[in-house]
Amino acid sequence: MTAGEALVEGAALLRSAGADSPSLDASLLLGETLGMDRARLLSRRDAPLSPADEIRYRTFLSRRAEGECVAYIVGRKEFRGLDFLVGPDVLVPRPDTEILVEAALEAIDRTAAARPASSPPIRVLDVCTGSGCVAVALKAERPAVTVAACDISPPALAIALENAGRLLPGGAVSFFLSDLLQSVPGAWDLIVSNPPYVPSAVIGTLAAEVRREPALALDGGADGLDLIRRLVREGSARLDAGGRLLLESGPEQTALVADLLRAEGFSGIATRRDLAGRERVAGGSKTP
Ligand code: GLN
Repeated sequence: MTAGEALVEGAALLRSAGADSPSLDASLLLGETLGMDRARLLSRRDAPLSPADEIRYRTFLSRRAEGECVAYIVGRKEFRGLDFLVGPDVLVPRPDTEILVEAALEAIDRTAAARPASSPPIRVLDVCTGSGCVAVALKAERPAVTVAACDISPPALAIALENAGRLLPGGAVSFFLSDLLQSVPGAWDLIVSNPPYVPSAVIGTLAAEVRREPALALDGGADGLDLIRRLVREGSARLDAGGRLLLESGPEQTALVADLLRAEGFSGIATRRDLAGRERVAGGSKTP
C-alpha cells in the first residue's frame, strides 16, 4: 500500500464514521505513522507503507473512528506555533484560546509602555493552566515577563511542567497546585484564565471528542459560570491597582462575564471575538 492509497482509504473510513475533517485527520495520522509532516507526506504519495506502518495506521484510524481526537492519538497539539504534549488529563488547546493569548499580549505591552524601563518585570498568572499552553505561549512570546500558572489537577500540572520544560529554558514558568488562586502567593499585574465554563447539563450533549476531555476542565456548574464568578472575586483581591483580568468563556456568556466584572468594580471592560466572530474573552482592569 502507498501513502496515497492509505490517505484515500483512511479518509473514506473516517468520513463514514462521521468525522468532521476526514482527509485532514487521515493525513495527520498517516504523517504520525511515517514520521513525516503533512507537507512532506503530501509530496510523497508513492512512498510505500511497511506492514508494521499499516497496522499502526489502522490502529490510529480505528481510535479516531471511535471518537478519540487526533491530538490525543498523536499526543500533541500545536498552539501559537508551539507543539504541546497533550493527553486525556488536559483539555486540547483550541484556536479560540489563542484570542485569550492575544488579549494578554496587548495588556502586557500596554502595561510595559506605561512604566519606566527600569520597572520590575510584569507579573502574569495563568489560572486553570491545563496543558500550560497559555502560560508557556506568553512566556515564549514575551520572555521579559514573570509568568506563573496554577491548576487544581496534579496530572494536568505534570503535563504543563513537561511542556514548559520542553518549550522554554529551565525554570521559566512557576507552577502551583491550587484551587483557583487559593494556594498561589503574591499579587499580579495580569491574571488570565480559560476556566471550565460549560453548563453541567450541556456536557452530555457535546461532540464525542469533547466528552473524552476531562470533565474537570469543562464543567462550570449549572450556568457554567461557577468558576468565573469565583475568579472575578479572587482575581480582584489579588490584582495590583491597574492590573487586568482576562477570562475566556462561551460566546453566550461573555456579556454576562463583562457584567460580573463591572459589578465587582472593574473598569475598562472590553470583550473580544474569536476567529469565528463569536464573543470569547472578557476583560477588566482593577480600578486604582
Ligand atoms: N471551548 C471548550 C468547548 O467548547 C470549553 C472550554 C472550557 O470549558 N474552558 O468545549
